[in-house]
Amino acid sequence: MYKIKVISNFSAAHSLRGYKGKCESLHGHNWKVEAIISAKELNGLGMVMDFGDLKKMLGETLEKLDHKYINKLEYFTKINPSSEEITKYIFNELKPLILENKCNLEEIRVWETEGSCAIYKE
Ligand SMILES: [Zn+2]
Repeated sequence: MYKIKVISNFSAAHSLRGYKGKCESLHGHNWKVEAIISAKELNGLGMVMDFGDLKKMLGETLEKLDHKYINKLEYFTKINPSSEEITKYIFNELKPLILENKCNLEEIRVWETEGSCAIYKE
């Protein structure tokens, strides 16, 4: 099993509904996002996937969140936009793009701060 990882980021605002504390108020983060994909066999070039292609796919996915108020996005009108839920959202948006390229999406990690990270995998 081979795996590769790319790292990207986005900036956005959110507020956590029902949370008793500072995060109930509108605030923003610069989220760091790691995407890890795998393949059992390498392609003809000896790669899982071109890093540039993977970065582009992750970028297209993060474009939907970047500089947005996440609570206002259709998906998050009922789902609380916690880092965990944002991680799952990114996973589900990115997964079909990865499958089209005959690779598997292993894991998405979303860092809300330098010391706090949410992880989603199936
Ligand atoms: Zn927050």
